[in-house]
Amino acid sequence: MTDFRIALLPGDGIGPEVITEATKVLESLGKRFGYNFQFQEAIVGGAAIDKYGVALPDGVLEMCKKSDAVLFGAVGGPKWDDPTSKVRPEQAILGLRKGLQLFANLRPVEVMPFLMDASPLKKEILEGVDLVVIRELTGGLYFGKPQKTWTTSRGRRAVDTMAYSEGEIARVVRVGFELARGRKKRLASVDKANVVETSRLWRQVVNEIAPEYPDVQVEHVLVDTAAMRLIQRPASFDVIVTENMFGDILTDEASVLAGSMGMLTSASLGTRRTRRGTFGMYEPIHGTAPDIAGQKKANPIAAVLSTALMLRYSLGLPREADVIEDAVKRVLNAGHRTVDIAVQGDKVVNTVEMGDLIAAEVAK
Ligand code: NAD
Repeated sequence: MTDFRIALLPGDGIGPEVITEATKVLESLGKRFGYNFQFQEAIVGGAAIDKYGVALPDGVLEMCKKSDAVLFGAVGGPKWDDPTSKVRPEQAILGLRKGLQLFANLRPVEVMPFLMDASPLKKEILEGVDLVVIRELTGGLYFGKPQKTWTTSRGRRAVDTMAYSEGEIARVVRVGFELARGRKKRLASVDKANVVETSRLWRQVVNEIAPEYPDVQVEHVLVDTAAMRLIQRPASFDVIVTENMFGDILTDEASVLAGSMGMLTSASLGTRRTRRGTFGMYEPIHGTAPDIAGQKKANPIAAVLSTALMLRYSLGLPREADVIEDAVKRVLNAGHRTVDIAVQGDKVVNTVEMGDLIAAEVAK
């Protein structure tokens, strides 16, 4: 029996609810294929602030580093919402990304045909959408210094700094090329090279790397054009790679295509190799959904699909990843829906029932 060590960081709100269902599905998979998933759990986010006074307690990073992968729920909630507070739940995510050197965030967006009714866009626009957005995660405007507000004789001023080194750009762009190579071989590099200096460097680095991947067709798309095209012709994209803030905005826009936050998942990868893949942190893209927490209404599919990404990228088990993705599709095909993706006539199930249904399909 092969053992895998998985660090579990369920977090706050619906985080623990959806992570419980994700581990249930993994256990079902383990039983069928002979894998032993050893889960080591730690408290992070708001719950950790309540218990330890910090969002990312000592020892959690070390625990994650000793694992094959990290499965993360979500952190935050109204109780810890004060933006002026020195300790905030999201420090857990930023600390993990920095501490584990996870610089590439992958968000796959696939519109399943039977969920088209749940999306605000027309069916003809959504047909064939199957794309991945790769967002640079540890550089750019969110981390550049100086970042401050000060008072001048003419009032307050604030500054943020967007900075990138060519090394930071090259490593994430390569993730884009590699991923495109294994898919439809199309890479859209998104920047604002007509205005922004870091974007001009970004574009140069992409052009310098492109000859190493002659099989991949590259296009440069300005971020404003990309934002429009994601709504007008989303199926024209295969892999998109972009810097931190542009990616932050575009990934949320792309998430609308799929109908619900409860369906989308993400992988944050670095360069560290595990025994069978690349070390990474896997999480649904949604937050802690305080409005439905504790009511068994949360859709656990994003968290379950996170485990499929984990199997594919960190654990070297692509066939087993397909088993989980197929199981989700079969359950949805049979008409089972959590309330967020239900339309008239669907069989509405709760969080636990959805987890049970997927786990049972995985076991078949
Ligand atoms: P949210 O994603 O938590 O919720 C937005 C809406 O989507 C809500 O109506 C919610 O009920 C619904 N929703 C989200 N996930 C769902 C699911 N799995 N199933 C069904 N419905 C779902 O975003 P928000 O309301 O802006 O943020 C709530 C809290 O979560 C805030 O404290 C925020 O900081 C935090 N947050 C954390 C993360 C993270 O940890 N990665 C990400 C985003 C927001």
